[in-house]
Amino acid sequence: MHDPVDIRRRIDRLVARVDRRDDYGQLLARGQVALAVEDLDDVEAWRAEIKRKARADRIKVRTGVEDGLVWALRIRTGNADLLAAASRYRDFLSRAAPLAVELWHEPHVALRDGEEVVCTCGRCSALGYADAAEGVIGGALFKDECPNEEPPAITAVTMMHVPGSRRPGGR
Ligand SMILES: [Zn+2]
Repeated sequence: MHDPVDIRRRIDRLVARVDRRDDYGQLLARGQVALAVEDLDDVEAWRAEIKRKARADRIKVRTGVEDGLVWALRIRTGNADLLAAASRYRDFLSRAAPLAVELWHEPHVALRDGEEVVCTCGRCSALGYADAAEGVIGGALFKDECPNEEPPAITAVTMMHVPGSRRPGGR
């Protein structure tokens, strides 16, 4: 298990990075971004700016306005690196999530960016951090027991990443 001080630093860095992102940065990181039309002074200028940046970066985007939302979507053409990253993330979470559940936590994804994720427990203050690209995992969620005595509820993370045999009462 990773050094707790370094884990704390990694979480702070991730939160700061996501906070500081502008709309185009979010589009790059998540593949899409949407805003309420009423939150923008000039919808067409926003779309033009996204397209201008995308052209400069040579990526393809589509933008549109619908139902009071203006959106931009990155068009992907079967990018092998992205697919590999997504499957690395899934595999890594399938190693990490059972640890949390076996310690009686209810893991939820609080923040994800690429292959980095911060998870919280639904009923205590434990945090967990994992970075699939670097193989780093740490935080109380993955090493300290949940103070609750009742078995944890099944969360979306549990459903997707913990096999039935490793869930509470699943044996
Ligand atoms: Zn807990």
